[in-house]
Amino acid sequence: MADKRKRTNLVHGGTRRSQYGEVSEAIYLTQGFVYDTAEAAEARFLETGPDEFIYARYGNPTVAMFEERLALLEGTEDCFATASGMAAVNGALTAMLQAGDHVVSAKALFGSCLYILENVLGRFGVEVTFVDGTDLKAWEEAIRPDTKAVFFESMANPTLELVDIEGVAKLAHAKGALVVVDNVFSTPIYSRAVEQGADVVVYSATKHIDGQGRALGGAILGTKEHIRGVVEPYMKHTGGSMSPFNAWVMLKGMETLDLRVRAQTQSAGEIAKALEGHPKLNRLIYPGADSHPQGELVARQIGAGGTMLAFDLKGGKDEAFRFLNALEVIIISNNLGDAKSIITHPATTTHQRLSDEQREELGIGPGLVRLSVGIEDPEDLIADLKGALEAV
Ligand SMILES: *Cc1c(COP(=O)(O)O)cnc(C)c1O
Repeated sequence: MADKRKRTNLVHGGTRRSQYGEVSEAIYLTQGFVYDTAEAAEARFLETGPDEFIYARYGNPTVAMFEERLALLEGTEDCFATASGMAAVNGALTAMLQAGDHVVSAKALFGSCLYILENVLGRFGVEVTFVDGTDLKAWEEAIRPDTKAVFFESMANPTLELVDIEGVAKLAHAKGALVVVDNVFSTPIYSRAVEQGADVVVYSATKHIDGQGRALGGAILGTKEHIRGVVEPYMKHTGGSMSPFNAWVMLKGMETLDLRVRAQTQSAGEIAKALEGHPKLNRLIYPGADSHPQGELVARQIGAGGTMLAFDLKGGKDEAFRFLNALEVIIISNNLGDAKSIITHPATTTHQRLSDEQREELGIGPGLVRLSVGIEDPEDLIADLKGALEAV
């Protein structure tokens, strides 16, 4: 299927049919696999072929279908599916690092990513330098000859600032460091991260890939050499593998991923237009809006505005809470990428753990709300948002 276009691969890529010729991908809910003879078991442990499995922590046919389908979409040679997005971030980093290594990371990170970079790696003797991800000069100054990896979210949560993958990759590669990109907010639909210089791309499949709020999952993508030589040995022995059932949920999610993400992006653009300049807002942040300060980079890197919006209410926390509580269609939750539109108040939820100074530095004020746009009728979403703004 490698010669087919992405939308075709999203439906058919990686499919392995059993002897029954099922239409919908089979769920191989099995931990282990039977060998005809002791000799066959011995041979399987020496070397596994593409359709041969040993134990579900190492690999499973349903999981393999998901891995192949996502690798085709991302345009990488290989993929290892993980139990969650965090298993992917942790695995991508710890599989390649050891005591004495140096890592440079953007400081605007998802809370759990920050925990790994700030609290976990240091305990094992890895030094981490944090930089403003949007500042190429800062990356240049921080990356050293002993830097093993750079890590960043290509679009930061919740302020929707982009990190220039191409720019950072040039600086990192000049010093021999690998580029690890958490690409969740850009989505695999708009991603061209590998051609832009990423060596390893990480997703939380929990977000747009499932897209219907059901299961946790994640993925680490890269070259065959890196995934099978560095990532797989670490992941299969440390237990962060994806379950076959969740892989099946994600396979079904991928069938509609392109349709959902493009519809969500279209609606997000319409919402941004409808709310831009609203008297109750200090500012509106949407990568696809003319007002976004990185318009050139948005066009070059993802070519679309994406499915996420943020806006800052004038009255701070009280007004933000009143606004959230007045919404009728849009639900209050902290997930994103879902078919349902979801709104969250980062300062009191996802970024509650940070100090006031850290939040201020990251641009997460008390009036900031983050909206993940779903697939509802955009007219209803706009009416809901405008009605709730009236209520504050
Ligand atoms: C959600 C998220 C993760 C973690 O994914 P889980 O599936 O919840 O473990 C990592 N990075 C980013 C940018 C995310 O949004």
